[in-house]
Amino acid sequence: MINVAVAGCLGRMGQAVVEAVNGAEDMTVICGIDPRGGDATGSIEFPIYKTVKEALEHQKPDCLVDFTQPDAVEANLKEALAHGVDCVVGTTGLSNDTLSELAGCAPEGTCLFYAPNFTTGAVLMMEFAKAAAPYFPEAEVIEMHHERKKDAPSGTAIRTAQIIAEARGSQMTKAPGKETEIAGCEGARGANVEGVPVHSVRSSGFVASQEVIFGSLGQTLTIRHDSWDRSSYMPGVLLGIRSVGTRQGLIVGLENFMD
Ligand code: NAP
Repeated sequence: MINVAVAGCLGRMGQAVVEAVNGAEDMTVICGIDPRGGDATGSIEFPIYKTVKEALEHQKPDCLVDFTQPDAVEANLKEALAHGVDCVVGTTGLSNDTLSELAGCAPEGTCLFYAPNFTTGAVLMMEFAKAAAPYFPEAEVIEMHHERKKDAPSGTAIRTAQIIAEARGSQMTKAPGKETEIAGCEGARGANVEGVPVHSVRSSGFVASQEVIFGSLGQTLTIRHDSWDRSSYMPGVLLGIRSVGTRQGLIVGLENFMD
C-alpha cells in the first residue's frame, strides 16, 4: 500500500486527487496539508495539517502529491524532499532551474516528478507539436483556462513552447518580433516564450484547453486539446504516484512513464 499525503487537499485538484487515491486499491491518503487545517470528514477520514513540516512530524508518507499554488509549492517540496519523501507535483509556476535545484538537495533514491499536464491528451498534443514544428516556420499557442486560475501562461503552454523551440532548431519565425505599433495595445502578440507567441484566455466555461496553430506557405495546422473535467488528470496522477517509488532524481513530463 502506498501512503500518500496530499498538499492542497481542500482545493479543486486536491479534492479530486483525494477521491482518486482513495478509490485505488494500492494506495491511500494518510494525511492532507492545507492552510485551513482540520480533519477530512465523510466516508474516509484523515488529518489535515497546516504545513508540510507539521505533517511530517506526525506522519510518514511514501509520496507527497502537491496541487497548491505557485507561491507555496517550492517550500512544500523543499521540506518533503529533505525527508526523502518522493514528490508528484502538478502545481505550475516552478522554473526548470528551481526544480533541478530542489531535486539536487534530496537524499539519494528520492524522486521529484513534475508534470505540467497530467492528461494523456495533452502529452500527445505536445508530441504532435514536436513532430510538426520542423515543417512550419510559424507556431503560436493559445491556452484557455477557468477564470480562477492564478498563473499565466499555463505550465502546459510554456512546456509546449519550449518543445516547439527545441524541435524547430535554428529555423525561426519573424512573427514574434513584430509588436503592435498601436499605443495602449502592447501585448497584442502575446508573451514571447522562447520565440513562440503564447496567448492566455481566462473565462468561466473552460477547465483547461489549448490550441497550437502552425503556419507555412498557404496552409495552417491546428492541434487542439480540451480537458472538460478534472477527472481527466487522475489516471496520470495515479501513474505518477505508482512510478516515483522506483525512480530517483528529477523527472519532468508524464511521457516518461507512458508506454
Ligand atoms: P485551488 O483550488 O486554489 O487549490 C489550491 C489549494 O492549495 C487551496 O486549498 C489552497 O488553500 C491550498 N494551499 C495554499 N498554500 C498551501 C500550502 N503552503 N500548503 C498546502 N496547501 C496550500 O487550485 P487548483 O485549481 O486545485 O490548482 C492547483 C494547482 O494545480 C495550480 O497551480 C494549477 O495551475 C495546477 N494544475 C495543474 C494541473 C496539471 O496537470 N499539472 C492540472 C490542473 C491544475 P487556500 O485556498 O486557503 O489558499
